[in-house]
Amino acid sequence: MTLTEFSFIDELLKPVSLKSPQVLFGIGDDAAGLRIPEGFDLLVSTDTLVSGVHFLPHWDPYDIAYKAVMVNVSDMAAMAAQPAWVTLALTLPEMNQDWLQAFVKGLKEALHTWSIDLIGGDTTKGPLSITLTIMGLAPQNQALRRSGAKAGDIILVTGTLGAAALAVSFLEKKDLPPKDKKILMHKLLHPKPRIDYLELLRSFATAAIDISDGLSADLNHLCVASGVGACLDEKAIPLHPLVTHYLQEQAVDFVLSGGDDYELCYTVPASKLNQFGEALKLRNLQSYPIGVIEEGSGLRMQTAPGLIKHLTPAGYTHF
Ligand code: ADP
Ligand code: MG
Repeated sequence: MTLTEFSFIDELLKPVSLKSPQVLFGIGDDAAGLRIPEGFDLLVSTDTLVSGVHFLPHWDPYDIAYKAVMVNVSDMAAMAAQPAWVTLALTLPEMNQDWLQAFVKGLKEALHTWSIDLIGGDTTKGPLSITLTIMGLAPQNQALRRSGAKAGDIILVTGTLGAAALAVSFLEKKDLPPKDKKILMHKLLHPKPRIDYLELLRSFATAAIDISDGLSADLNHLCVASGVGACLDEKAIPLHPLVTHYLQEQAVDFVLSGGDDYELCYTVPASKLNQFGEALKLRNLQSYPIGVIEEGSGLRMQTAPGLIKHLTPAGYTHF
């Protein structure tokens, strides 16, 4: 089979769609039609992955597709929205059949993991880049935003940090033990979007963000949106064991500015923390309290009892 733009769409992409009832029409028309269920709000988010920036061109196309889906799903998780549909804008240097088959396999498996329907897109020629627009649903007025944190709220993260950023900084490292390389690359390529937190976040959280750029940069976005400051407890920041192993006393600074983990950072009122802890346990989930929201602005970190240092938010920026 030699692929053309149209056989690619018909033979590879169409079978990815789930034909869910809320999709009135999907791939094949000039636009997709969706019926939003009554009582829900529609949430929309876009993320682009550019070759050489977000992934390397020689990576397995299966992984590239998985990651493109995952980073978009993570944005829905951060908003406490159920992901439902995506469109895919694909720019390709050529119609390479093997590459595209592996890409579509990764796309399909990732989308189906979270029951997300591919409803349309665009296919163009140019330097390799992948843009997904994801749409999700949240019960009316229950989407979680960055702007709801209040002084006194406890700041939590959903998992250990730093492994994905360490994988990036070790891409060229030749003497990395293969078993460590495997663990780190898995964290970079197959992070788990925290969809398992949707209900809990809706019930308990006041604000949330996913950690894509770095803990301090992303927490700072949340603080600015909420009009508050924050103080972190250095010892409470959960470091991935390999980050501690390789970076030792530099580990905390590294996770403050290292992104790509896609854990959630969120806030819960101190008065609800006990009840929240019980709810986490019931669901077999673990989160780590790392600090507290304060009045005012800016980030601080307690490094020892009574010793607090100012933090300059740092993380990945494109420009
Ligand atoms: P148009 O010329 O109207 O933009 P296209 O020929 O680009 O239409 O696309 C034909 C159909 O295939 C449309 O329904 C479009 O949504 C879908 N489509 C095109 N490219 C992709 C893609 N990369 N992923 C999913 N659907 C796609
Ligand atoms: Mg088009």
